[in-house]
Formats: sequence, C-alpha cells, structure tokens
Amino acid sequence: MTTQPIGPGATLGVLGGGQLGAMFTRAALRLGYRVAVWDPDPDAPAHRLASRSFSDPFSDPSAYQEFSQLVSAVTFEWENVPAVLCEQLSQTCPVRPSGAVLRVIQDRIVQKQFLQTRGFPVPSFSVVSDPAQLAGVARASGCVVICKTATAGYDGKGQWTIRQPGEIAAVESALRAMVPHGARWIVESMVEFERELSVLVVRSADGEHCVYPVVENRHEFGILRMTVAPAAVSAQVIPQARDLARRAVEALNGVGVFCVELFQLRGDRLIINEIAPRPHNSGHYTLDACTVSQFEQQVRALCAMPLGEVRLVSPAAMVNLIGHDVEKITSSDGCRDLLAIPGAVLHLYGKRTVRPGRKMGHVTFLAGSADEARDRASRFMKSLAE
Ligand code: AMP
Repeated sequence: MTTQPIGPGATLGVLGGGQLGAMFTRAALRLGYRVAVWDPDPDAPAHRLASRSFSDPFSDPSAYQEFSQLVSAVTFEWENVPAVLCEQLSQTCPVRPSGAVLRVIQDRIVQKQFLQTRGFPVPSFSVVSDPAQLAGVARASGCVVICKTATAGYDGKGQWTIRQPGEIAAVESALRAMVPHGARWIVESMVEFERELSVLVVRSADGEHCVYPVVENRHEFGILRMTVAPAAVSAQVIPQARDLARRAVEALNGVGVFCVELFQLRGDRLIINEIAPRPHNSGHYTLDACTVSQFEQQVRALCAMPLGEVRLVSPAAMVNLIGHDVEKITSSDGCRDLLAIPGAVLHLYGKRTVRPGRKMGHVTFLAGSADEARDRASRFMKSLAE
C-alpha cells in the first residue's frame, strides 16, 4: 500500500524552531511548501523563516487549534517536544516520526531497554530511581561509569562521569538536587571506544530506506566538535555500521530521518550509544557535501515523496562553532580569514545570545580527500583556540 503524498503548496508543521527547525524550514520552502513553526521561544531562529509562526507554550489550546487546522503534516526538530502533542496532532494529520517512536527515544532508559531486548548491542547499564542507589550501582561497575538523566539531557547536560570512588558523593548530591523534578537516571559503564561513528538512516512510510555514509565524530565536553565524512574505518566496519543502524530504525518502525550514534570498540565491534529521531548535528555536512541533505530528506519522508539520493559529492569535515567561537568569526578579520580557505562553507544560526556550550553555527570544509578536509578543519579549530 502506498502512502498518499503531500505536494508543494501544503503547509508543514515543525515543533521546535532552533537551527535544526530552521534548516528543515529552508529545505521545505525551497521545495515549494509553506512552514508553520511552533516554538515557545519567540527568538528561535526558525521563526524568522516561517510562513506562520507560533510562539505560545506547547500546552496552549488555542494555538493547538489554529496550528492543527493549518498543517497537512507535522515533524519535530528534536526529541524533547511533548510526545502527547504529537499523539494529539496525529489524529488530524500524519506526524512523522510518530509520538510512539518519540516515547521510546526520549527516555534514555526506555530506549536502551528497547534496543537491548531486541538484541542490539548497547553499553551495560543500570537504572537509578533514587540517588541513594548511585553508590552501589557505580561500585558494581568498577566505579568507571557515566550517569545520565533519563529525560531531557542533551549536549553533555545532565551527565556526570565517575572515574573513581571519591567522585561518587559529588554526583549523588547533584542527583539529589534534581529529585523534586521526579528524575530517574541511567548509569552506563564507560566504554573504551576507539572512535565514535554515526549513521543517518532515512525511512519512508512505506518502509523504503536509504543510508548515508558512515561518519566519524569527535566530542569535547559531551558536545560534538568535529565530524569527518566519510569515516576512516576498515572495509568490514562500514557494512556492519550501516546494517546495525538500518535494523535499529526498522525495529522502531521509524519514519523520517534518524541518526544512530555508535561506539567502535577494539576489534571493530560496534555498539549503539543512542538514536536521534531527527536530522543530527553530525549530518550537517550533507547540506554542502551530498546530493540531497538530511533536511530535504526530512521533508521528503514527511510528505511521502520519494527519498533522495544520498551520494557524497565531496569529502568533508564539519566543525561546530560553540559559544564564544562565533565571536572570532563575526569579527570582520575572522570572517575574511575563514572565507579565504578553499572549500570552507560557513553557516551562522543567527542566535542573538552567546552562551558557553551553545551551538552558534558550523563550518563545513570540502576537500579532495577526507584527510585534507580534516586537516583544514583541524587548522581552523587551532585558530579558534588562539
Ligand atoms: P550522549 O548524550 O549519550 O550521546 O553522550 C555524549 C557523549 O558522551 C558521547 O558522544 C560520548 O562521547 C560520551 N559518552 C556517552 N555515553 C558514554 C559511554 N557509555 N561511554 C563512554 N563515553 C560515553
């Protein structure tokens, strides 16, 4: 059975209007759609591009009424939008990915249990529902663990590493401070990975899929710093990574764009770190380096249009501009120096307030080889630190 396509001219709804929502909006507008952006923050970047803008709280009934009457299909820019809103909206139009998928993904405990019970490799983990349990759980794992809030954490927020017994007490106090909010935590064994990889999988409502090249990611302080496409991994790892990612998205019955983050261990074994049910920062290189970007795929999958080609036209390395990095670029000299680098493509997100750890933009370096792209990106990162 084929799913009814939604053609250009229709209004697509996106929940969340940060840089990911803005990039979705740009892709949709280029294909001739209109876009209604709903983000309670009136300053969210996507509002400036939207055909219709809603900055009411997600719980506002009159905004819901208006939004739901306007849109022909709805997606979201990240997993922390209310699943209940997605479920409500799905009574009047397609919501892709679905609220059910969102419920599995947005709780790290539910997500890891989902993957584990279906035989997917994940780090060993325990659940903590009372801070008093932390010490026992950490000690049982040799006191080398990473503790994460079950919900709402991102970019290293809501995460604490413990590398020795002396560090447990401070983390326990941090958890106690969260208790009034009814928090639960997942405590994972710290994985000694060789490298971090990610794979974007696009899946249509009819179950067709396409898989982007495997890329390599480097994080700093829990935040993505650099992505290199394609990853410099052995010929055995690539099909393994692609297959694992595709099967995980299929198990979720996910429709849309998904990013499967992987750890590559010694001996080329792969395990899943987590899955994002949306375009991902590690896929931003697709905007400049692939025939069809992850954001256009999000539009295509949402509208039940044919999925696009995922060919890598040029090797690339992407560097995030985090916090005050951006000030080096917005100065006239910094911008001139960057744009003088061959193959450098600058994306600034137009966020008005700079905060440490906030993603303010990114730069993609295109080059003849992945090594050359990585070298250019590394030199640029060094210049940011000077
Ligand atoms: P997450 O938000 O879970 O993707 O974590 C952010 C980053 O923290 C990951 O990309 C890794 O660099 C690191 N990290 C998360 N979980 C683990 C783990 N179990 N072992 C080692 N490093 C981890």
